[in-house]
Amino acid sequence: MTAKPFKYINKTIWANGNRYYVDGKSKLVPTSVFKRASVEQIAELLVEYKEQNSYSFFEQTVKKFIKANSERLQYIFTESTQFIRDTSKAYPDENIVVSFSGGKDSTVTADLTRRALSNPSLVHIFGDTTLEFPSTLEYVKRFRENNPKAIFKTAKNKEQDFYKVCEDIGPPARMLRWCCYMFKTGPITRVLNNIYRNMDILTFYGIRKSESVNRSKYNRVEFAIKEGKNGNEIVNDKIKIQNQTVASPIFMWKDIDIWLYILGEGIDFNDAYRLGYDRVGCWCCPNNNERAQFLSQIYMPEQSERWRKFLIDFSIKIGKPDPEVYVDSGKWKARQGGNGIAAAEDVKIKYTNCTTEENAKIYKLNRPFDDNFLSLLTPFGRLAKELGRKLINETIILDIKTNVPILSVQPFLQDGFDYAVKIKTMNVAKHDDLQRMVSYQVKKFNACRKCLKCESLCRFGAISIIDDEYCINGNKCKRCRMCVTAKYLEGGCMMDKYLRTKERI
Ligand code: SF4
Ligand code: SF4
Repeated sequence: MTAKPFKYINKTIWANGNRYYVDGKSKLVPTSVFKRASVEQIAELLVEYKEQNSYSFFEQTVKKFIKANSERLQYIFTESTQFIRDTSKAYPDENIVVSFSGGKDSTVTADLTRRALSNPSLVHIFGDTTLEFPSTLEYVKRFRENNPKAIFKTAKNKEQDFYKVCEDIGPPARMLRWCCYMFKTGPITRVLNNIYRNMDILTFYGIRKSESVNRSKYNRVEFAIKEGKNGNEIVNDKIKIQNQTVASPIFMWKDIDIWLYILGEGIDFNDAYRLGYDRVGCWCCPNNNERAQFLSQIYMPEQSERWRKFLIDFSIKIGKPDPEVYVDSGKWKARQGGNGIAAAEDVKIKYTNCTTEENAKIYKLNRPFDDNFLSLLTPFGRLAKELGRKLINETIILDIKTNVPILSVQPFLQDGFDYAVKIKTMNVAKHDDLQRMVSYQVKKFNACRKCLKCESLCRFGAISIIDDEYCINGNKCKRCRMCVTAKYLEGGCMMDKYLRTKERI
């Protein structure tokens, strides 16, 4: 990037993060080079030399690359297509879904799956995060035109605005990627549930073991329910969408295999890779490397500038002494919790023990007690308003199996709390355990930002978040209590993780 134009026109260049391979020789480009380079100047040079730029040397080299690796290409194709055929034997084609992100891995997975099953009409699902590269949307359009028989579904969260949520709970950071559920997994789950309801489905994903340490812990096939140590059934928390088995035909493939297949088979792919990106996802993802950010400044100048300005304003709001440095050095990506963010108050459970009744707590609510609050207590049993004392607007909750009352719930007036609810546990062996689960529902009531995780979590489709209402359908809820267990929802609500501050109450 600091070299004269066309210096490398007759060399093969591959990029992987900040490492470049020039004619096979590895060259590390330090981050400082990206920081020093003039984005404006490079953008101007790209325009000036556009006509003279050519792929001819690249194409010659690629021909040699494909010829030299033809056996490997044949092997990976045969192995993966056989895997697809074997894995899908138990599923009708209608229940097979191809997860399509517009990236290179899902491009290959989609192609392999269609060829292996000789079926051009498979369901493809594309999660439009609203933060896609322009080239991804162009590629998706071409993909649909080139595969007219494919049933193509787009999942998009149209109810939330990324910047507005960032204002409220802070921008995503490496450890705080709330956007993955809100803008990707959640909308995809909704679309799948709409099509398949409770049917078992098989989804082919482009997951690769070598992609990250996290991915290396996956198996090539992951089932929604797996066998626990004692032979019991447990929910597989690697599966974000329930009722589906996930399989990856390219699980063992390396990056180079992906390109061998794409170039060797002459498949269309996302132009973002031609611009130099090695990963295609959300353009502002905190996991993007320096080079990707640098490229976005060149190719998406307006969005990049708006994002940088937002990050600087946010840094000022949370009291960073040197906001520009905090943003430009990438420290914002390491942010943890909700320090300095007003919404962080909502995840602190504030309560007082009742002085007149045992096993009763008075919880602070951030808005008035209503039926929506009561609906959040559905996982504990059957809500029986008719059994409560009318004068105090009490509701009794009966254990679903024994019909014994286990909770008494009533709106309450408490000094220091604008709104409050009193909840008493009864007839249980472990009052504290039940009260802890109740407190998670109070947290959800106060803090829910509609991240959609709960919708994905409930295997019975009992939870739905419509407009501003978090609802649990008492007829669908099986009282499995997964949604009130910290194992599946850290602290009872994902916002606890994203907004947690050091001084807990
Ligand atoms: S309650 Fe929390 S985890 Fe559940 S959808 Fe709302 S924000 Fe997400
Ligand atoms: S996860 Fe679903 S079925 Fe289980 S308790 Fe919660 S709402 Fe009910």
